Amino acid sequence: MDVDEATRHEWTDLAEKIRGYQFEYYLKDAPTVSDAEYDADMRRLQALEEAHPALRTPDSPTQQVGGSFSTEFAPVEHRERMLSLDNVFSLEELDAWLERAQREAPGEPKWLCELKIDGLAVNLTYEKGRLTRGATRGDGRTGEDVTLNVRTIKGVPLQLVGDNVPELVEVRGEVFFPVAAFEELNASLVEQGKAPFANPRNSAAGSLRQKDPKVTASRPLRMLVHGIGARRGFDIDSQSHAYELLHGWGLPTSSHTKVVTTAAEVRRYVEYYGQHRHSVEHELDGVVVKVDQVALQRALGATSRAPRWAIAFKYPPEEVNTKLLDIQVNV
Ligand code: NAD
Repeated sequence: MDVDEATRHEWTDLAEKIRGYQFEYYLKDAPTVSDAEYDADMRRLQALEEAHPALRTPDSPTQQVGGSFSTEFAPVEHRERMLSLDNVFSLEELDAWLERAQREAPGEPKWLCELKIDGLAVNLTYEKGRLTRGATRGDGRTGEDVTLNVRTIKGVPLQLVGDNVPELVEVRGEVFFPVAAFEELNASLVEQGKAPFANPRNSAAGSLRQKDPKVTASRPLRMLVHGIGARRGFDIDSQSHAYELLHGWGLPTSSHTKVVTTAAEVRRYVEYYGQHRHSVEHELDGVVVKVDQVALQRALGATSRAPRWAIAFKYPPEEVNTKLLDIQVNV
């Protein structure tokens, strides 16, 4: 079916606008609109493509992992793609997603519930137990080489320890700025006459993506594991099992993760952290629900942008972010 001129124009303008936001967010670590506004534009683009599938080309922002811009850092190819996540914004949408995943999975899924850490994704490559590479997600295939910076993060082991350290493992996790330390950093930046960061997520990204690793080392960044990429020399049957192994080798895993079996329990987890999000050491913008079993993950597969076996439930935006966005942000 042909797409009328006005709709095509709307799509082009919106896609262009979103790419501009992505540039400011991923490359400059300095967003100019709130995440809620960005998400609303992205949803409008998805709706246009739903109504007019001809608009859904491979170069649409809805089909790509955000962040593919040339940067000052050396490019690094990930051994396995790093994907983004599809989002839902209400409990009804979450229920519908759980039902669909359950229907399409060739087995009974267990639900791995995790907090959605508001930071920046990294890929850590360990070869024979040694940390040989740290990279940002980039466009999911190629990231930025931030090895020297990652090595300065407290809690990221340079050498894995314990039994059966594998030949190779790509560990995916989120680098974040602990909330308490964020306020101190901003106060000290202002004192030095520098612009403060808009929020902890941007301070984490801005602190990690520094040309001088000494600056990164001076910032109290932390990392928590939330996935696994290429691996050799060990087997796992579930993602929660992978976390146990990674924890045993000395990697930081989250104490908030929980495996449950029913949709009602998933809902309770979402509601609990909706009420207790400020008692967690990092900022969170939602909950991620994953099918735990690796065999079912494989069967469900992935789109060009996101796995079909995981979903991010996003909490409604909080006032504070929009207020902070009014001030000039650090670049
Ligand atoms: P996303 O942040 O919605 O979800 C994917 C990412 O979540 C993963 O790559 C991973 O880094 C992270 N994550 C955190 N905890 C996780 C966990 N427990 N398990 C798995 N992954 C976890 O997607 P995205 O593509 O990184 O970014 C899109 C989002 O970023 C938007 O929805 C918006 O909130 C924000 N954004 C804002 C602007 C802006 O201008 N304000 C621009 C671009 C993106």
